[in-house]
Amino acid sequence: MNILMFGPNGSGKGTQGSLIKGKYNLAHIESGGIFREHIGQGTELGKKAKEYIDRGDLVPDDVTIPMVLETLKDKGKDGWLLDGFPRNMVQAQKLWEALQEAGMKLDYVVEILLPRETAKNRIMGRRLCVNDPNHPNNIFIDAIKPNGDKCRVCGGDLKSRADDQDEGAINKRHDIYYDTTTGTLAAAYFYKDLAAKGQTKYIELNGEGSIDSIKQTLLNQLP
Ligand code: AMP
Repeated sequence: MNILMFGPNGSGKGTQGSLIKGKYNLAHIESGGIFREHIGQGTELGKKAKEYIDRGDLVPDDVTIPMVLETLKDKGKDGWLLDGFPRNMVQAQKLWEALQEAGMKLDYVVEILLPRETAKNRIMGRRLCVNDPNHPNNIFIDAIKPNGDKCRVCGGDLKSRADDQDEGAINKRHDIYYDTTTGTLAAAYFYKDLAAKGQTKYIELNGEGSIDSIKQTLLNQLP
């Protein structure tokens, strides 16, 4: 099964993605993660991408698109969950063309809907466990409030990502996401239109629910 996931930073997209990739044994392909790997390994691509990422800008399409499409072909043969890509209309169109060419089906497109202000608060409340970044902790979400100043899962120390506390950077990311003309929501609506023509299925989830309720609603709509 091949799934594309949309949701603003702060919507729980990463959390839901990790949960469903386990159930369907999907390769979790995360464009931001691929960039971070390249930066960590000091590759040419990593060096090119780093300056854009540090500024909070999108990495140019001529770097990003081939990188993601190659990873899909390499690691996605038995099903994939694509996360963080496409981020704009051009990427959405190129991905669709590449899928058609490769004869790959896009089974589901999932959009987590969340008002911009709520998304911002959630980002600023996010805390990272030093033992495992997948342990969910957020001082503004009741269901996953840390235990005092410790991780609610393992009791580990918590820290916050510097870019999570940078309002300017958050606004910049959300400007791109909530742009319905050429940005990420435009990309999402491109697939919504395809779904209306029967070429994929589009699932909308209310991101204001708890992690568990969103997960259940999502799983109920998947086979
Ligand atoms: P993320 O972890 O998804 O927030 O991605 C981290 C950074 O990687 C973003 O702020 C962008 O600079 C870059 N990036 C990730 N995905 C894309 C994409 N699809 N297109 C362009 N840049 C991206």
